[in-house]
Amino acid sequence: MTLEQLGWTAREAEAFEPFATRGLRPARVIVGYGAAFRVYVDGEETLAEVSGRLRHDARTRRDLPAVGDWVAVRRNATGARATIQAILPRKSVFSRKAAGQETVEQMLAANVDTAFLVSGLDRDYNLRRIERYLAMTRESGAVAVIVLNKADLVDDVPDRVREVTAIAGGAPVHAISSKLREGLEALTPYLRPGQTVALLGSSGVGKSTLINQLLGVDRQVTCEVREADQRGRHTTTYRELVPLPSGALLIDTPGMRELQLWDADEGVQEAFDDIAELAAGCHFSDCRHDTEPRCAVKQAVDEARLSAERLANYHKLQAELAALAARQDVLARQGEKKKVRAIHRAIRRLPAKGSS
Ligand code: GDP
Ligand code: ZN
Repeated sequence: MTLEQLGWTAREAEAFEPFATRGLRPARVIVGYGAAFRVYVDGEETLAEVSGRLRHDARTRRDLPAVGDWVAVRRNATGARATIQAILPRKSVFSRKAAGQETVEQMLAANVDTAFLVSGLDRDYNLRRIERYLAMTRESGAVAVIVLNKADLVDDVPDRVREVTAIAGGAPVHAISSKLREGLEALTPYLRPGQTVALLGSSGVGKSTLINQLLGVDRQVTCEVREADQRGRHTTTYRELVPLPSGALLIDTPGMRELQLWDADEGVQEAFDDIAELAAGCHFSDCRHDTEPRCAVKQAVDEARLSAERLANYHKLQAELAALAARQDVLARQGEKKKVRAIHRAIRRLPAKGSS
């Protein structure tokens, strides 16, 4: 694949200039294995490690590569390995705070142009969830496109589309049936050559079905390209940046598919920009539109200019974000405690003064 087929534009070319003069090559990350990566460089795939310098200078996980990143690499003499020396500025980033012992940010995808927010029009259908996915996508920097799948299962499709459009904040809404291949042509404008797309949505909404339709084949088969290694054995290569027949590139990482709510604070503000606008008229600048007097938002509800339901959703999401933030604080403090304990342990292990 050429750089252009991988999505390279004048923007990347400009950002890469200083690295070209250092003899580095442009590459795109197609799989992340934790510490190592698989990249496309000079028309081929190769394993790449992060340079010691980049790793050393990285303050957070964001300073390290993710699938979809454009990177500057140095190839070794045989070209079989490369080291990633730098990451080019990103257009968008999807990440999440990994649930578990510590709140570590997990990088899910970089440089996604369009995120398809997939919902099923059947049981899964939930406006609140769509609002959250919209907020996350706004936060990422990618453009959101709402896909209402399983249109074949309901008979009030136009009503649903209107309902979703009302909360979509300008994002396009398309009703399709992946299973019956109906309405898929609506997605073609986002699938132009070099465009990077990703699918987000809860389990069971039909993401795999849609991906297989976009690929024209089964993803399980496509992503596992069998390749001969040096000894002629066949090894299975798995890709998370997958070229589509349309010329677009699909980022499909396990974490991306199951992306959940995380600290999308800024995105939430924008997803509720109608409320943010009204809030400018509240008496208190830090009004929570709850029990505060002279609240312009509650007044708008009283006067039916804003639905009470929408304000309730806003409150609910704010509460969830607050809970998430509190959890992160606790985890951060626990992390500090662990560090302090480790230091104490290290001190105890030091030889006592005067001994030996
Ligand atoms: P995923 O978990 O989001 O990847 O969802 P899947 O692609 O595995 O689909 C979940 C189920 O929904 C499967 O049984 C699919 O056959 C079914 N499904 C997917 N798309 C459609 C659709 O457009 N219409 C109908 N009726 N069923 C669908
Ligand atoms: Zn208020």
